[in-house]
Amino acid sequence: MLANKHARVKLAHLPTPLERMDNLAKALGTNVNLWVKRDDCTGLALGGNKARQLEYYVGDAMRKGADVLLTTGAVQSNHVRSTIAAARKMGIDAVVQLEHRVAKHAPEYETNGNVALMKIMGATIHYYEVGEDEAGADKNLFDLAEQLKQKGKTPYVIPLSAMNHPPYGALGYVVAAEEILQQVYSRMDSFDAIVVPSGSATTHSGIITGFRALGCKVPVYGMCVRRDAASQEDRVFKKGQKVAEMIGYPDCLKREDVMCNGDTLGEGYGITTPGQMEATYLLAEHEALFVDPTYTGKTGAGFIDMVRQGKFNKDDNVIFLHTGGHPTIFAYPELTEGR
Ligand SMILES: *Cc1c(COP(=O)(O)O)cnc(C)c1O
Repeated sequence: MLANKHARVKLAHLPTPLERMDNLAKALGTNVNLWVKRDDCTGLALGGNKARQLEYYVGDAMRKGADVLLTTGAVQSNHVRSTIAAARKMGIDAVVQLEHRVAKHAPEYETNGNVALMKIMGATIHYYEVGEDEAGADKNLFDLAEQLKQKGKTPYVIPLSAMNHPPYGALGYVVAAEEILQQVYSRMDSFDAIVVPSGSATTHSGIITGFRALGCKVPVYGMCVRRDAASQEDRVFKKGQKVAEMIGYPDCLKREDVMCNGDTLGEGYGITTPGQMEATYLLAEHEALFVDPTYTGKTGAGFIDMVRQGKFNKDDNVIFLHTGGHPTIFAYPELTEGR
């Protein structure tokens, strides 16, 4: 286990299933073998990729004696919902900050989906009015932590930009890389590609660095959901280099290993695209899989697009990493318009 020397708590149901998507392959008329890695099924408070990441952030927090977790995210953040859930499981408090990052939205965006789950779990919620101001949002969070310290609490901050914080969460995806390799070697003749979402880059940097540290050269295609491809690749590489050091393989990741596709982003973070809407219905109608508008719908659209464009060969085994996001479906009433 590459991440063994780092503190970890158990939060996720692992291993998650790796399943075939033969109906989707038939619907797309492809002879490529399509697979889905079900990280929507990680269990913690409706699942998703943050459960794996939080095993290491919260591991570090508990090691430091934290009694309250703080984090920040968009109003419909899965990360914030999962962080509150992790705090509840550990029996400690959660103080969170929601950023108004998505301009165009229905009233449900403010009240349903993840917001509803956060309120049910009973966290203290603060709002940050500026949408795209990562540094400002993080600073505000540290100010909140300082106030808690004054009151005698031991806060632990999970900042989102995380460029100055060790990317502990990415260790959860180093573990996922090991888990995937164990699953593929027992079930496939070859493993030819994996398509992943690339947001804060925690998932993408962890999985690519994990594969390379284990000597696996499989291409990892990151789909942009937050920013353009050039800045995203830069971010994944920087984070990946830190991860590589943390697991004791400092030179395992090369710049050319990091590939991001910017076509999936559309107008921006959390704004629906025609490709994402189509992927939502294709995956639901053929595989009973639910993808969300912000992350997995766009990643699914990028995956389907690569299959249609003939980027993979006959009998290749390609994996779509499903990172969850189910609650957000209930914050986007446009998903059911005209259905
Ligand atoms: C956060 C999130 C992502 C993006 O993962 P990062 O590690 O931030 O890049 C993808 N899918 C879902 C459902 C998420 O909640």
